[in-house]
Amino acid sequence: MIAEVIVDIAAYPIDKPFDYVVPKEMEDIVEPGVRVKVPFGNRKLLGFITEIKDESDLNIVKLKQIEEILDITPVLTKEMLEMADWMKNHVLCFEIDALFAMLPSALKAKYERVIRLKDRSRLVDSEAQALFEKREAIPLHDVTSMKLLSILKKYSEEGIIEVETIVKQKTSVKKERILTIQSETEISKLLSLLSPQAKKQKELMDWMIGHAGEILSAKYVLESTGVQPAVLNAVIEKGAAITSMEEVYRDPNIVDLGDHSVPFQVTEEQAKVMDALMKEKDQPATFLLHGVTGSGKTEIYLQMIQDVISRGKEAIVLVPEISLTPQMNSRFKSRFGDLVAVMHSGLSAGEKYDEWRKIQRGEVKVVVGARSAIFAPFTNLGVIILDEEHESTYKQDDTPRYHARDIAIWRSQYYSCPVILGSATPSLESYARASKGVYRLLTMKERANHHPLPAVHVVDMRDELKNGNRSMFSVDLADAVRKRLERKEQIVLFLNKRGYSSFVLCRDCGTTVQCPNCDISLTYHRASEVLRCHYCGHEEHVPTNCPECSSEHIRFFGTGTQKVEEEVSKLFPGARVLRMDVDTTRQKGAHEAILKDFGDGKADILLGTQMIAKGLDFPNITLVGVLTADTTLNLSDFRAAEKTFQLLTQVSGRAGRHDKPGEVFIQTYSPEHYAIQHAKNHSYEPFYRQEMMARKQYEYPPFYYLTLIQFSHEDLMKVSEYAGKTVEWLRQRLSDQSAVIGPTAAAISRVNNRYRYQCLIKYKKEIGLTETLQQLIKMYRTEWLKTGLYMTIDMDPSTI
Ligand code: ADP
Ligand code: ZN
Ligand code: ZN
Repeated sequence: MIAEVIVDIAAYPIDKPFDYVVPKEMEDIVEPGVRVKVPFGNRKLLGFITEIKDESDLNIVKLKQIEEILDITPVLTKEMLEMADWMKNHVLCFEIDALFAMLPSALKAKYERVIRLKDRSRLVDSEAQALFEKREAIPLHDVTSMKLLSILKKYSEEGIIEVETIVKQKTSVKKERILTIQSETEISKLLSLLSPQAKKQKELMDWMIGHAGEILSAKYVLESTGVQPAVLNAVIEKGAAITSMEEVYRDPNIVDLGDHSVPFQVTEEQAKVMDALMKEKDQPATFLLHGVTGSGKTEIYLQMIQDVISRGKEAIVLVPEISLTPQMNSRFKSRFGDLVAVMHSGLSAGEKYDEWRKIQRGEVKVVVGARSAIFAPFTNLGVIILDEEHESTYKQDDTPRYHARDIAIWRSQYYSCPVILGSATPSLESYARASKGVYRLLTMKERANHHPLPAVHVVDMRDELKNGNRSMFSVDLADAVRKRLERKEQIVLFLNKRGYSSFVLCRDCGTTVQCPNCDISLTYHRASEVLRCHYCGHEEHVPTNCPECSSEHIRFFGTGTQKVEEEVSKLFPGARVLRMDVDTTRQKGAHEAILKDFGDGKADILLGTQMIAKGLDFPNITLVGVLTADTTLNLSDFRAAEKTFQLLTQVSGRAGRHDKPGEVFIQTYSPEHYAIQHAKNHSYEPFYRQEMMARKQYEYPPFYYLTLIQFSHEDLMKVSEYAGKTVEWLRQRLSDQSAVIGPTAAAISRVNNRYRYQCLIKYKKEIGLTETLQQLIKMYRTEWLKTGLYMTIDMDPSTI
């Protein structure tokens, strides 16, 4: 028996599985999806079995043997193996990288696996009985007898034992002490034997009589009775309760935001959308659900999933970022309870692993999560939903550079189930596909509760300056804030900027403090009082004098959320402000806590960055202020106008979602820009048409596809030489339908002392592009890599 194994060695020039002989005694155990240790050169490497076959094209005598088996049941499904095979060509990554992307980190190489006995009474084989004679758990590594392993494999399938993963020596499975309280008569008997001095024990036993026969956690008993653990132990020893250790899942902290737990009676628009979805609920169709903010898209997802679950199937719901998950989680939990798992980067490795196993064991039917949740190991998917489908966080910018939308569509074909892409502001790509009929377009133009969209005012900040107002608040916005404070309504202030990032500038010579390793200004972090580079992590103290001219007139520039907060407290004394940005949300659970406080009315103003633009649905918000609309508009990015339009529309959508009407103020220095004008009028289609004309003129997506190739090297000459070579090489091979642009220095031309160059391929149709790029990669891996050059290829860059 021969196994094809994908080995964990990403530097190897050719990406292919290697053949290994399966030792006779392992034949019962190996199957595709199982991890193994194999000899490779003079090393021992982790690998995944992808296929089992009878013979090899190579000389069998020369083949090496599998050394060790790491799983007795597969960690990868057949679907995942197929998906990895497709993904490696689709995004040009190593197959091993695709496979790793599908697994929680707890299942990667450095973690130990342990088999744990679950039901001793069903151990029939004598070898197994001997193995577990004195122990409940054994490292899988220690079982060397293949015969025993194949018995264990059978046991694992029958639920007699279980394989779990140990994360860095600490068990990744959380256990809790569980008590089964004895019957009333049993405890009464014990009570009569108790010495009169043992008052506390008597108290506890009396309490237990009231809970006779119940199964309770020890923690609960201690908390409810207030007795010391020693007292509980004494009572247990006397026989008043039987204890066992049982697995509990770590609970990833879901706050109940008091959501509606039963389905709404759908509106007319929603009913039409549901009908269309139901007609194709067994089809691999992709729907673009374009609905204005508050039109009830989430309600559609919930009702669709209800139907999916009732048919015994499963659902994946992707949300763009962790800050959106609290509200979504709460809405999904209140509808589907324990059938929901959550997955996002805010969870610890242990929590992620627990959620992953709930899915793998079939204990949950829905996962709500960020990008990587698209790989949730469900085996009977009924629908995949991407909420806010236009968000760039759905694209991974590191290897493997996949877009969650592409994975969703692939999986929907595998399971023949629909994909729903939802947004109030669809990406141009998706809307273009929907216009051509590739996706099915579903539209909802009204808010579900029939309240009007908020009135949007555009404020020209140039006029404010002319009138002598230097504050970051225009007169109109400041007045509006005051009115809301008087009426005890809530306000959202949005700063179109990531976190608190300001730089240090010398007012005398204009020098900014630069990172010594990168071509970028250092960012001032107020919390830790240091200057930090966001690219390489370099840190230094804030200088008191300018490093160039020694002037003392060196100060911080740029408006961050903290500065706005200061200004707010000056302008609106007494207003209660909550700030939500990278600094205030670093701690686990901080997002949830801030949202809950705001929802409970503990603050008047919520001030924040991108994080607060979406998802918020609080009835008392009647005013939204956008302090600087221009920041994204000025990005050197072909998506700048699209991003600005999307952000303004999203953030405006937070106002007046319920009974109280909403109002929005957008402050800008370019009020005439079409992205701002169309956002003001809530008009997506006109924006789409105008932006499409610009994209066509400048030959950008969705009219053209882009592939971005980036190079870096410590030596500036070398990096420009290889980038130049690549451009020439590509021009010779690609058709005249494609344009190869560059080489140019990257926007940030040096990072961590490595110089960066890039080139861009623009094409409409280029048959064989993947193969050509694979040849390029091969050349890079066999020859260029040695010289210290790094090259990466992104087949669908979110920015360039
Ligand atoms: P979206 O996801 O499109 O922004 P939501 O699903 O969040 O919209 O709905 C907006 C608001 O309207 C929510 O408060 C939701 O509970 C409510 N809602 C949705 N559908 C209905 C309905 N059919 N009837 C009454 N209220 C609804
Ligand atoms: Zn200076
Ligand atoms: Zn740096």
